[in-house]
Amino acid sequence: MSQAALSSSINATTNKDPADVRHNWTLAEVEALFALPFNDLMFEAQTIHRQHFNANEVQVSTLLSIKTGACPEDCKYCSQSARNKTNLEKERLMEVEKVLEAAEKAKAMGSTRFCMGAAWRNPKARDMPVVLDMIKGVKALGLESCMTLGMLDEDQAQQLQDAGLDYYNHNLDTSPEHYNQIITTRTYQDRLDTLDHVRSAGMKVCSGGIVGLGEKAADRASLLVQLANLPKQPESVPINMLVKVEGTPLANVDDLESFDFIRCIAVARIMMPQSHVRLSAGRSAMNEQMQSLCFLAGANSIFYGCKLLTAENPETDQDTLLFKKLGINTETVVDDSSNQDKRIKTSLVNAQHKDLFYDAVN
Ligand code: SF4
Repeated sequence: MSQAALSSSINATTNKDPADVRHNWTLAEVEALFALPFNDLMFEAQTIHRQHFNANEVQVSTLLSIKTGACPEDCKYCSQSARNKTNLEKERLMEVEKVLEAAEKAKAMGSTRFCMGAAWRNPKARDMPVVLDMIKGVKALGLESCMTLGMLDEDQAQQLQDAGLDYYNHNLDTSPEHYNQIITTRTYQDRLDTLDHVRSAGMKVCSGGIVGLGEKAADRASLLVQLANLPKQPESVPINMLVKVEGTPLANVDDLESFDFIRCIAVARIMMPQSHVRLSAGRSAMNEQMQSLCFLAGANSIFYGCKLLTAENPETDQDTLLFKKLGINTETVVDDSSNQDKRIKTSLVNAQHKDLFYDAVN
């Protein structure tokens, strides 16, 4: 593809009208973006980022594992799969009270969104009343709520929406072409169906993938094509770097080159200009300079103050310090569930207190 044609396809994404976000990306266009000289790619990504977001703000959430391990699925990267011989300590579904205690503490420490993850293939009927109570409790605290519980049917999605769930996370993980190398116990279409149920019920979608799974460059492009060409692009797009866990089939896979990861963030930003691109799992292995390049490439969301499900997350004090060095503030959240413009501002940069952050798991 010529530079001029590429420029014009990029420019088509820069209109702020949601109706003009593109949903017809081709693999060739996306591969051409990945192939841009690094500085050109970063410039394009940062330019688009500034048209849609405050470039010096990052959204932060707290993530809590509400049910850990013993998952029947066979995701080859995951420490929580019962099929992988990891040393992960299994935990049953947490009590609602415990979850709400954690959420309350997270709120007191400045968190605006509370994400709850359970290692399930899908929630069972007996689990639903418990998770619905968790959502209602978290909402009553004035926090945004997010859950990741595996596959959902239409009815379950509606129940979650009715309870007030704001976001549902369900990742596509990788490209359709590479998918069978990674998971065999659910299909790509199963994932798309769950996203469709979440959307139809009226919730916001959080969906992304993992890179460094031994996939080809074309697979990373293909994953982004899938995400960007959804009927409505996800509001939140986590881009995870594989965290290699001893005992999983991917424990010894080759490392992904750092620049390939940063390019992935930049291309996601260009293709999904209105989405929050989340620098997610794998961040603990990244030094400050690499994280900074990811923010420059358009990443504008992270988890802090908790274990990222079961993977290690950087110490929160390090996050505070890095944000301070970069002049980054945490994003102002507008609660549009009421007519009042309730602005909940967290102030990472201004707060000097070490105890601003909270480990929601321990
Ligand atoms: S990624 Fe999710 S579905 Fe797959 S094994 Fe882990 S917990 Fe289960």
